[in-house]
Amino acid sequence: MARNVAGYKAEGYTRFQLKVGGDPDLDIQRIRQAREVLAPSDRLVADANTGWTQHEAMRVVRAVRDLDVYIEQPCLTYEECLAVRRNTDHPFVLDENVDGLEMLLRAKADLAMDVVNLKISKLGGLTKTKQVRDLCISMGIAMTLEDSWGGDITTSAIAHLAHSTPEEFRFTSTDFNSYVTVSNATGAPQRENGYMKASDKPGLGIEPRFDLLGSVVVDVH
Ligand SMILES: [Mg+2]
Repeated sequence: MARNVAGYKAEGYTRFQLKVGGDPDLDIQRIRQAREVLAPSDRLVADANTGWTQHEAMRVVRAVRDLDVYIEQPCLTYEECLAVRRNTDHPFVLDENVDGLEMLLRAKADLAMDVVNLKISKLGGLTKTKQVRDLCISMGIAMTLEDSWGGDITTSAIAHLAHSTPEEFRFTSTDFNSYVTVSNATGAPQRENGYMKASDKPGLGIEPRFDLLGSVVVDVH
């Protein structure tokens, strides 16, 4: 994992998210070794994707207390995450538990996070994500703007959402079209030295490759 992080750093990335949430002892080593290959200004997130139990999460945050690392969604439930949050001084990110406005407002009232991960499909599309995004700006909460997964079309939507968000609230975004081997649209952002930018053409600024999408499954009038 540390070698991969060093490779991405060499490609220009400055923000890194580790997938942890397995064996806590191994995860502690992963976080330590990944942080070691980064510069002080690089941001590192350890995202457990709900994978630790509460006591495992508590062991991990104690064991990496001396490191500059964000902790994302350590446990499955909101209450477990809140318990960990209240017992650590690492910057804290919520993801899976914040699936709409109601949970965002509850988490804000509880001071449950410093950053929130907004996934377009998790929140129900761009319009709803924009509403949550705007509220986060008003409340002073920075955001990871991304989706659950995707290719060129999704990456274009992410880039537009990020461009229209003030820089100080843009924590990270994900270039999912670098993760996949099939291009489903032309004109999508391409990562360059760790950054991507959206097309300035109308709409998402892309042309879907309809030939790749196959025959019509649903026809909406
Ligand atoms: Mg996450």
